[in-house]
Amino acid sequence: MGLSDIEARIQHACDAAGRARADVQLIAVSKVQPNERVEDVLREGHRLFGENKVQEAAGKWPDFKARFDGVQVHLIGPLQSNKTRQAMELFDAIHTVDRPKLAKAIARIAQETGSCPDLFIQVNTGEEEQKAGVSPAEADGFIAECRALDLPVKGLMCIPPVEETPALHFALLRKIADRNGLAGLSMGMSSDFEQAIAFGATHVRVGSAIFGDRVYG
Ligand SMILES: *Cc1c(COP(=O)(O)O)cnc(C)c1O
Repeated sequence: MGLSDIEARIQHACDAAGRARADVQLIAVSKVQPNERVEDVLREGHRLFGENKVQEAAGKWPDFKARFDGVQVHLIGPLQSNKTRQAMELFDAIHTVDRPKLAKAIARIAQETGSCPDLFIQVNTGEEEQKAGVSPAEADGFIAECRALDLPVKGLMCIPPVEETPALHFALLRKIADRNGLAGLSMGMSSDFEQAIAFGATHVRVGSAIFGDRVYG
């Protein structure tokens, strides 16, 4: 485990799928990890990270960004509308756009400031009650709605149900992206990123396999 091991596995998965390594971005998911571990990965040269909470990211990334050049941080967790502005200032991409109210709030702030992070729309491919995301049936309509708001929608994101085989969900996400002309696919975590790459993932979100298990205090 660790960054170099995951890098090697990503390269291998790209080779196996006949894809270029440059077409897959590794988001190192640093949520809950101690700052020393995050700093080790920064020192190894990695620059793209993921966080799932606005508050937690605000507490550590401004300092890291001041000390390391070229750092990018993506929001991969749910976003409350009242934290939209802060999230847009902090993050280079938001993977969890999942409802009209949030899309409109982002559009309003983007117009006002003249800038907007890259956006991914979260699709609840497993249609799970407790999970965020638009249902697969609503996805086309919501994508169109976001585009009508001039939002920079780059792709789709999903978190497959834990107890199901992820391949079906990766395939579904890709199908929705393809028919909507979206190139980005944020899918695949520690346990299944190689499979996600086989299904066309452009952004894999890998936490524990890089940093070790998360220890919740
Ligand atoms: C925590 C998290 C990950 C990383 O999970 P690991 O299993 O540790 O790789 C990926 N995506 C999302 C949305 C997460 O919240």
